[in-house]
This record gives sequence, structure tokens and C-alpha cells, in this order.
Amino acid sequence: MPTNPLSKLLDRRKPTRSDVEQALAQLAQLSEQHPDLVELAATHAALLRVSFRDTPPVPSVSLELQQVATKLQGGVPLLRGEPLAFDGAWLRERYVQLCEALADVAGSSNTGSATRSGAQALRQAVKRGMLDIQALATNVVAGDPYTVAQRAEQLELDSQLAATVLRWTLLPILEQVAKQVEQARHNLPWDKGYCPVCGAWPILAERRGLEQTLLLRCGLCAAEWPIDNIFCPFCSTRTHFDIGYLYDESQEANQRVMTCERCHCYYKSVRTLAALTTPQLFVMDLATFHLDLIALERTYGPPG
Ligand SMILES: [Zn+2]
Ligand SMILES: [Zn+2]
Repeated sequence: MPTNPLSKLLDRRKPTRSDVEQALAQLAQLSEQHPDLVELAATHAALLRVSFRDTPPVPSVSLELQQVATKLQGGVPLLRGEPLAFDGAWLRERYVQLCEALADVAGSSNTGSATRSGAQALRQAVKRGMLDIQALATNVVAGDPYTVAQRAEQLELDSQLAATVLRWTLLPILEQVAKQVEQARHNLPWDKGYCPVCGAWPILAERRGLEQTLLLRCGLCAAEWPIDNIFCPFCSTRTHFDIGYLYDESQEANQRVMTCERCHCYYKSVRTLAALTTPQLFVMDLATFHLDLIALERTYGPPG
């Protein structure tokens, strides 16, 4: 029997992590306030539940303090060139489970038929050994996040969906890997727009606390790093005239689209009291979806 997307949000099964439970409650609240976001919220909820359902096997990173300093000084993300021993069987299984969750939640919505068939086709491709998730994960950490999309295209699969599922597969692992190196990189300068740990672009920025410190947050490993107010993460311009911002009248003080006239990219910044948890990053990304629309309407785009 088809289920309603909202029922996915109201799933009473308790997740293992309290930050996931909190994020799920926020997603349910968000979709009550914004009925147009119900389907996306249900999708996020399903992905969060599967992604964080257990403790993943986390490969360990062995970096000497000196290596950490040298890499960061050279603008090299810490995981670059580090052989991470991923558990291939676990990755494959988790990828398949995420595809199943996506197909399930898409099957309960009016507009999800393409997503459902896309997710089912991805699942099949992994099951048949045509998509090597361990190799693709290794590529991502090596600084080549586009191989998954290329490989999916070769197989006539939905490339964007393939990349999204890989990101959710890796998130709970890379979150822990980022924590392993957090202490070592503490207080070391990093003036790039990409993540100092994994090299991915930020998902959003926080203006945190009373000081409103501007911190970028990684969309792949959830690491954070401070940046200057007058700085574009994507082209690194520090020219005052290049940097601007857009906002929705009702939320001006709390949420902004930061824009760059030089590369025409944007990122979203939100005011927070304390650090957003990893699951909350994705709730906030969805809660500020209207800002993406404002940016895209003005022809600003994501990097790449
Ligand atoms: Zn990262
Ligand atoms: Zn720029």
C-alpha cells in the first residue's frame, strides 16, 4: 500500500543518535510550516535515518602534526593522498540501503516516479557490481568527486542521484574521520574556500554566537573552518566590491545569500547560537531552500 510522505516524517522509531532525532523533529516541524517542502523533508528524513542508523566502520588516519601543518600551509586538504581503508562491503550495503530508502520515499509522493526508478536502477547497478562504491569513495577522498557522476552517465543512470547517494553513504564515516584530525588542525591557519579535511565545497556558512564568527561547514565531512567576511570561497577574491549579499525581507538578519560578482557563485549564511550538528546542516540547507531560489533567480550558481 502506498504511504504518504508525511508518514515517513512521523515515523516513531527512535534513531540511535540524539542529534539525528532532533534533526528529524526539525524536519517534521519544517514540513508543517512549509507544506511545499514535505516531499524534500521526507527524503532528507529517510536518508538521515539510514545514514546514521548504526556506527560505521571508520578508517583511521595517521598524520603527524608536522604533516598536518605542512599540508594546510600548502593548501592541501588533509585527506588528500592518505590511503583510507574503507570497508567495501559495508559501503556497498549502505549504498544499496540508501537507494531502497529513496525509492521507498519517492514511491509515496506524487512527483517521485523518476527518483524511484532512478534509485532502483542504481541499486541494481551496485548489486550487479557495475558501480564500485569503494573505488568511487576512494576517488572522492582523492579529490575527484566527479567520477561517480561520469560512471553513472556511462551506465545511463541518474548521475546526480548517484552522487547524492554516495555523499550520504560517506557522511557518517567522513564525519568521524574529520573528528580524528580536528585536534591536530586546531588553530592552524587555512584560508581556502574548500574543506581543509576532505577538499569538498561548503554546504553553507554559520554566523555563530554573539561574535557572529563566520564559519564555513563542509557538505561532505561536516568540518568547519573560519573565513573572513570579505572573501569568496570559490574564487578567493578579497575585493570588497565583488562581495555582496541578498536576503528575504522577513529574515534579513538571520539568513543571507552571499554573492560574488567575480565568479558569480553564492553560498548561504545563517545565524546560529552554537555549532549545527551534522544532521542539522542538512535540515538548515533545506530550511533555506528559498535562498537558493533567490540566488538562482539572480543567476548566481553553485561552484563548478
Ligand atoms: Zn570536508
Ligand atoms: Zn567568487
